[in-house]
Amino acid sequence: MLNIDGAFGEGGGQVLRSAVALSMVTGTPIRIENIRAGRRKPGLMRQHLTAVKAAAQICNARLQGDHIKSTCLELEPGEVTAGNYHFAVGTAGSTTLVLQTVLPALLTAPGSSTLVLDGGTHNPMAPPFPFLAESFVPLINRMGPEVTVTLERPGFYPAGGGRLRVEISPCEKLRGLELRERGKILSRKATALVARVPRHVGERELRLVQKKMGWMPSELHLEEINNALGPGNILVLQVGSEQLTETFIGFGEIGVRAETVALRAVRQLRRYLRTQVAVGEYLADQLLLPLALAGSGSFTSHPLSRHAMTQVEIIRKFVDVPIEVERSGSVAVVTVGSG
Ligand code: AMP
Repeated sequence: MLNIDGAFGEGGGQVLRSAVALSMVTGTPIRIENIRAGRRKPGLMRQHLTAVKAAAQICNARLQGDHIKSTCLELEPGEVTAGNYHFAVGTAGSTTLVLQTVLPALLTAPGSSTLVLDGGTHNPMAPPFPFLAESFVPLINRMGPEVTVTLERPGFYPAGGGRLRVEISPCEKLRGLELRERGKILSRKATALVARVPRHVGERELRLVQKKMGWMPSELHLEEINNALGPGNILVLQVGSEQLTETFIGFGEIGVRAETVALRAVRQLRRYLRTQVAVGEYLADQLLLPLALAGSGSFTSHPLSRHAMTQVEIIRKFVDVPIEVERSGSVAVVTVGSG
């Protein structure tokens, strides 16, 4: 049994999710202690518990310590079983983080799967749906599998009530990805999503993007969402390059002005555009695991976050593949395997 200290590195949910994902794929039994010890409310929250239970169901695992606030968990995985699954986080907990936990195993499972995930779909501190659909999934599909994600109903924090459908046609073995250069920027799109929030909030966010970035009116879109359970607003900035689409998000919050929300997204976008890196901060930590499973690949990114470095360390515990991170000024070059 592999022992993992959940307090390790950035000590959050990522340690748990990655360890569980890697346990499923590699068939390694794990015991994780000090789960989320680095967080204000340590232990398993609804979203983590749903992810762990979903993982156990999919790989027919023996599971111990699977209750709310638990800080110690044991998982002994069995065989990964493709199929149709429905998991409900219950609250506005992130469906995309549940997906992050179980997707790696299903990408190479012996058969197709359909997942229906209920909960939040546009949560702060998680991959929001537009990022998943337009940045992450297209890259995964270039690695061999065919994944489609459909937003059946959006779920914003705190009301939740969203639904995500994921169809997965697996491949035998993941292929690596080379993302050292992003190439020319070919498209730009700003989308302000407003759900039960006045239109002017979205209009002001888009005006700020126009003012700060000089984007054309044809590149600015306001989408009013009518089927959300509760209020929500996010600004989605996307740039499509020859190699990939990157997505930067400003999350609307009560008490935060629309202009400030927009500025937060603009700052992330500017940081990306200032350098020639291919992969932004969040894609970097999310690509490490699939690339390690593929056994090869490389990308350029910003200097890796603590999150991403923790990810590297966790992966090294399960998969015997070299991961090198070289930094030169404001650029990091990550090489997995021999590149
Ligand atoms: P943790 O904070 O440990 O629960 O992990 C958060 C996860 O959500 C990581 O995989 C991040 O890459 C991802 N994430 C957080 N914010 C964003 C964002 N704005 N866009 C895309 N992914 C995000």
